[in-house]
Amino acid sequence: MTEEPVTGWGRYQPVTMRTVEPATRTELATAAVGGREVIARGLGRSYGDAAQRRDGTAVITTSCRRLVWDDRTTGVIRADAGATIGDLIETGIPLGFFVPVSPGTRNVTVGGAIAADIHGKNHHRDGSFGQHVQQLTLRLADDSLVECSPTVEPELFWATVGGMGLTGVIIDAVIQMAAVSSSTISVETSRHDTLDELMAVMQASDAGHDFSVAWVDLLRRGRGVLTQGGFADSADVGAHPAGPLRRPNTPSVALPPMPPLRWVQRPLVKSFNELWFRKAPSEPTVTHESITAFFHPLDAIRDWNRLYGSTGFVQWQCVVDSDDALRSICADFAAQPAFFAVLKRFGAENPAPLSFPKPGWTLAVDVPATAAALAALESFDRQVVEAGGRLYLAKDARMSPATFEAGYPRLDAWKRVRSQVDPDRRFTSDLAERLGL
Ligand SMILES: Cc1cc2nc3c(=O)[nH]c(=O)nc-3n(C[C@H](O)[C@H](O)[C@H](O)COP(=O)(O)OP(=O)(O)OC[C@H]3O[C@@H](n4cnc5c(N)ncnc54)[C@H](O)[C@@H]3O)c2cc1C
Repeated sequence: MTEEPVTGWGRYQPVTMRTVEPATRTELATAAVGGREVIARGLGRSYGDAAQRRDGTAVITTSCRRLVWDDRTTGVIRADAGATIGDLIETGIPLGFFVPVSPGTRNVTVGGAIAADIHGKNHHRDGSFGQHVQQLTLRLADDSLVECSPTVEPELFWATVGGMGLTGVIIDAVIQMAAVSSSTISVETSRHDTLDELMAVMQASDAGHDFSVAWVDLLRRGRGVLTQGGFADSADVGAHPAGPLRRPNTPSVALPPMPPLRWVQRPLVKSFNELWFRKAPSEPTVTHESITAFFHPLDAIRDWNRLYGSTGFVQWQCVVDSDDALRSICADFAAQPAFFAVLKRFGAENPAPLSFPKPGWTLAVDVPATAAALAALESFDRQVVEAGGRLYLAKDARMSPATFEAGYPRLDAWKRVRSQVDPDRRFTSDLAERLGL
């Protein structure tokens, strides 16, 4: 056990805590992890305080990365909690399988993907990560192991999906991978001059594409660049010596020295946005892209989260069903130092009480963690609550308990399961304490 400083990906509010790093699945399932305040931690890609507990103990899963096919013809795989999205892709692609849901980075563990019930660009079609988990093994607060699934101990299963590590430590999971016939994505890119135009196109055409996501320029009427696509057929990607299924190449470099982004002024953000917008083709264009370029472009710079300097940043991500609420939130963000904004439409919600996605628009915005910007976010929170929406726990570092409770009406159902399996709240995090979980 060692003691070290820990933060979320936003590098906001670091804490010191003990860390325990079991070397194998067996150790993860059995090793003593003493202490009362314990939380599982994967690769620390949640932006806020979900995977940390001041003066508590983090059980780090990243050394437990074994993957074993249960059925390599149908793509059912058993993954240790510390195996990453990248590991699953590299193992699956040669056999024609991709992860059922991919976040915007390959550096997320299976445990973190289940605990946050992560979503990807295909949520409108395929739902979130937990919906593709057939079974998981959980280490409970009394150190016993339990297997649960949508049919065995279903309440515990769905409380763990999206449960942010508060029902126990996920040891491993059985995942249904998605069949693909190539590792190339056929991508249609289109530019839209206003938010209204962008929204109309997404509403009309998302259903016809497996993947859809837009970058939005909040400083200019919400104009944006929409990318939609799907895995190309093997016959369409042309002859390549390695065949149509190629493991992604993911080179990454360190961030070059530069001044922190929090000093960046609006004219520079405007110029960046102008360049980004103009870089996209003026007429809709179809191109072929690699897995890395389409799903994980940010992974090219290893430590881009240092861009915001030592005070860090937060990511604010909401879901709202109302078009007017989205318009109003985007208009108000024009006054903020919001550097990067991503918009997507969600499909149906699932049985997990704390799962974030539900039908509507989801907007994610990076904001430097300055006092003024953080204070301004409170008015955005209010707009989300008034519109019947909610904020994403895996990105959050600052919402109030009232905002949280208003957004998650099935919270009581989750709390009932949690008090059955962990009445003394042995598993806890700074996020859990802040939100009264
Ligand atoms: C660049 C970037 C892009 C992203 N894009 C997306 C996206 O498109 N969609 C999306 O949904 N999210 C996205 N995220 C967020 C990320 O997917 C989630 O925060 C995810 O939970 C991080 O996984 P992790 O392994 O780093 O877990 P951590 O951040 O270490 O932990 C996250 C939560 O999972 C719990 N946890 C971790 N392992 C276990 C375990 N074994 N058992 C029980 N609980 C566990 C922790 O306690 C904590 O509550 C993105 C993050 C980054 C940095």
